[in-house]
Amino acid sequence: MSRRRLVLKMSGEALASSASDETIDAAVVERLAGEIATARNELDLELAIMVGGGNIWRGTTGEGKGIDRATSDTMGMLATVINALALQDAVERLGQPTRVMSAVHMAEVAEPYIRRRAIRHLEKGRVVIFAAGMGNPYFTTDTSAALRAAEIEAEMLLKGTHSGVDGVYNADPKLDPTAVRFDSLSFMEVVQGDLRMMDLTAITFCKDNKLPILVFDLMGPGQLRRALAGEQIGTLIR
Ligand code: UDP
Repeated sequence: MSRRRLVLKMSGEALASSASDETIDAAVVERLAGEIATARNELDLELAIMVGGGNIWRGTTGEGKGIDRATSDTMGMLATVINALALQDAVERLGQPTRVMSAVHMAEVAEPYIRRRAIRHLEKGRVVIFAAGMGNPYFTTDTSAALRAAEIEAEMLLKGTHSGVDGVYNADPKLDPTAVRFDSLSFMEVVQGDLRMMDLTAITFCKDNKLPILVFDLMGPGQLRRALAGEQIGTLIR
């Protein structure tokens, strides 16, 4: 029987914390790496991770500052490479082999993303960390994660949140105490209700390609393992 293959989208901000002035909090990265290595080993599944760059730079950060949009987006893509290397270092220190595959060529730092090679790494039990999104400006790492998940035929995209909100709600749970979390939603409900927990490009891509999304709280201890194990947590969109 083949192993389950999953893609986790992790925002760059998941690697930062209010406890540290640094853009990357080593203690947070170490804890997340522990969750990743433990879950991958115990569940024996194929795991690829798309890491964002928002803790360092987003394309929109340059807007209004006169920075050319495509250049600003490239800066954002490079930010994701920094995060990917931090995550790789922490996961490998725990004995879990990884490969960083970058969509922007930088041969001295990371392998180029080659679809069939990514699949081979996964089959060999390595955690693949995708860096530089999909390599094109005007996109986000949410959309890149969806694209890679479809390309490598992952069964699901796991969107790990870092803000303490453990799924999709009918109102902002931080502002409205009566807000209710949806256990499941259809893609149409997400689009029509304008329930933005991912960018719309990513959601419509997943809809068109029948790729389910699980939105869950990445930062809660044991939550990643539960999400990867297929337990009913967070909000499932399909
Ligand atoms: N980005 C891009 N193309 C991609 C992926 C990312 O141009 O394929 C840029 C974009 O500017 C984005 C930034 O990289 O704002 C960082 O990624 P993202 O905002 O998705 O990171 P996150 O919010 O998940 O940390």
